[in-house]
Amino acid sequence: MEAHCLFCKIVAKTIPAKLAYEDERVLAFHDINPQSPVHVLVIPKAHMTSLAHSTPDDEALLGHCLRTVATLAESLGVAHAGYRTVINTGIDGGQTVHHLHVHLLAGRAHGWPPG
Ligand code: AMP
Ligand code: ZN
Repeated sequence: MEAHCLFCKIVAKTIPAKLAYEDERVLAFHDINPQSPVHVLVIPKAHMTSLAHSTPDDEALLGHCLRTVATLAESLGVAHAGYRTVINTGIDGGQTVHHLHVHLLAGRAHGWPPG
């Protein structure tokens, strides 16, 4: 828990969020400013600043975050049509919240290359 981290506060439930999934290791909640009809963020409950700050010890947790995206996409009914999964990292990656999160974007076609 990082005292000044927005997503740690969502994990601690001191800031509200619309939860989509929770277990002992990860939390998923709907993005406050959705960019697609479905826009959910999956985060590790333990603070991790970014993918660039991850270590080999985080491999299982990172894998669990991705598997959570896949099962969430199934339960939200978007797996068949497909979805975009994004992890923004650092300044050039466009990361604005410095607690690792995986975006699950679905419900419309997503272009490539991204902006
Ligand atoms: P990124 O630019 O990859 O760091 O993404 C951060 C995301 O967090 C953005 O899509 C924001 O809309 C979202 N966000 C910021 N504050 C909140 C909040 N309080 N609840 C839910 N999503 C949030
Ligand atoms: Zn945090």
